Amino acid sequence: MTKPVFSKPFTQQEAIPEAGIARAVEIMKTGRLHRYNLLPDEAGEAAALEMEYAKWQGADYCIACTSGGYAIQLGLRVCGVKPGDKVLANAYTLAPVPGAIHNVGGVPVLVDIDESYHIDCDDLDAKAAASGAKYLLLSYMRGHIPDMDKLLAVCAKYDICLIEDCAHTMGAKWRGIRSGNFGKVAAFSTQTYKHMNSGEGGFLTTNDAELAARAVVSSGSYMLYGRHGAIPAEDVFQKVRLHAPNYSGRMDHMRAAILRSQLPVLEDNLERWNQLYDRLHAAFSAMTGVVIPARKQEEFYVGSSIQFRAEGLATKAVPQFVAACAKRGVELKWFGDEEPKAFTSRYDSWRYIDDIPVLPTTLRVLEKTLDMRVPLTFNIDDCDMIASIIEDEIQAFLPA
Ligand SMILES: *Cc1c(COP(=O)(O)O)cnc(C)c1O
Repeated sequence: MTKPVFSKPFTQQEAIPEAGIARAVEIMKTGRLHRYNLLPDEAGEAAALEMEYAKWQGADYCIACTSGGYAIQLGLRVCGVKPGDKVLANAYTLAPVPGAIHNVGGVPVLVDIDESYHIDCDDLDAKAAASGAKYLLLSYMRGHIPDMDKLLAVCAKYDICLIEDCAHTMGAKWRGIRSGNFGKVAAFSTQTYKHMNSGEGGFLTTNDAELAARAVVSSGSYMLYGRHGAIPAEDVFQKVRLHAPNYSGRMDHMRAAILRSQLPVLEDNLERWNQLYDRLHAAFSAMTGVVIPARKQEEFYVGSSIQFRAEGLATKAVPQFVAACAKRGVELKWFGDEEPKAFTSRYDSWRYIDDIPVLPTTLRVLEKTLDMRVPLTFNIDDCDMIASIIEDEIQAFLPA
């Protein structure tokens, strides 16, 4: 008997809403794609998007820009990171996080994680004390939100400025507060595989008027910052406009139009992700050889991907299990791989960092961690089929 093979791609997103396509076509017909290319009384798509996103996010100010990585970098800069400054960051994350720190001349100080994929607040405390770092770039990697009370207490204790990387938590909450509202600035990505899709793109949000003005000018506004949406008053710009360098990284009207059409369906999409995620989580929780951490009650997560550990397998069997699943159409990424592949890399492969630390829990947890995308083009039956293939394949590799 041939075994069933799952045939849907794990990287297929949904279509852009019709309203977004129509608006993008209209914009193309005008030829005015640049965000400052406006008719006398026109607000423009980019400015409208910034106002709408700020409102949705619950932030005073929002700057749309070229990518999530750019937004992180800009966030670090406006918070004052200078060459040589140490920046704490959880070691379980993706390459653009340490890359953004390096890009502004900062020195990443990597922090261990716990069994549930959160930054380890005890190690954070120890690393903050030992390094004297005044910045924490917190990546809510794969949507896992740590105990924010504990984390903010450590930040307060050492007077650490918190920059949030919300690439995987757009819309997620901790005790009812949206991620991105805990730190000084937050960065979001609208790259294709995130919660909104404009191909490439990102947002920086903040409630700090001066940081917002600096971010607008530095994002490449020249002296046209008045054409932005969610920005502080003119007097704040007067203070910073000649002091903030132009690090060109603007959003354009086309992508803004594509994103505006997705905002009204975002909340629904978060629910749809969680229906798929919860189905998979329940299936993985019941599987022999698999460990999946329970999600904390304080957290409203967005399950756009799922992580589990093949604890029953010997480490050398993990890549064989991944290959067996791939043969049956189920795409898993192994975070324990010494060799970086596609989007996945382990922290010790970022060799440009001096003195890469040994982080025992991160290494032990990632050694068996598998990661799977959950695109909205999947349905509940797909989740059931995927889970049954994984359960079927892991059996073969479990020790007798
Ligand atoms: C995608 C991602 C980024 C960067 O976003 P881009 O828009 O691709 O630059 C940053 N951090 C994490 C955790 C990400 O997954």
